[in-house]
Amino acid sequence: MIVTSGFSPRTFFKLLSVTACVFALAALPCFVKVGMAGREHYKDNNRTVIIDPGHGGREIGAKGPGGFAEKDVTLALARMVASSLPPRYHAVLTRTGDYNIDIADRAAMANRVGATLYISIHAGGGFSPAANGVIIFYPGPATRPRSASASFSTGNIADTGPLTWDRVYERHLRQSRYMATLAKKALEPLAGADGFTVVKQACLAQLEGMDMPAILVELDSVANPAVEARLEDPGYLSAVATAISSAINHFLQQITEPELRY
Ligand SMILES: [Zn+2]
Repeated sequence: MIVTSGFSPRTFFKLLSVTACVFALAALPCFVKVGMAGREHYKDNNRTVIIDPGHGGREIGAKGPGGFAEKDVTLALARMVASSLPPRYHAVLTRTGDYNIDIADRAAMANRVGATLYISIHAGGGFSPAANGVIIFYPGPATRPRSASASFSTGNIADTGPLTWDRVYERHLRQSRYMATLAKKALEPLAGADGFTVVKQACLAQLEGMDMPAILVELDSVANPAVEARLEDPGYLSAVATAISSAINHFLQQITEPELRY
């Protein structure tokens, strides 16, 4: 005699699949929450500031006559800026040691965490070995048209077409310019009698593809013997770091979330 349980094998598998679906649906909010937690944290609870120490590894940048390398100045300064920011901000360094990262990967890192602000630090004097001044760059247009293959829509009704990654800075232009002027104001008092502090707009690879306000602080060139000695002084670096972090703090306190989004 064959005893049946009341469920045919077909019914059993049907019930099994329904149960699995119920469990999957119940668990879905948990997965969604976990998946979004990082971004919510960065966006809402703590504003994330990316501090980018230029160069690294074999990419030493400018080199001083005494052997001091730009990559070491930028890392030391980036660490100081990060540690002098108020704890309510989340500071992330694009590199934390002596290694190089592709410029595109630095931008990708900042975009991935939904950073509020991007500060790149260099000490090469803007390609002038004799430079004795600070230049604060904010992104500008390319001098020649680039490929539009990697494009996307901003969803902004003012859009006239797809925005390419090399033009994404345009929607943060006003804020980038404002951050640059705040950094200039904070750094100006540190310039020597023959020094200078200026703001310039330029198309720099280091600022390309950043979907957030971004600036590049180009300190005096470490290749200048007088500057090299100054950059080796922790007291001077600490003053520069304090100036940059006070400008960041000023910016983040004044700019509201809607303003940061275009
Ligand atoms: Zn550099």
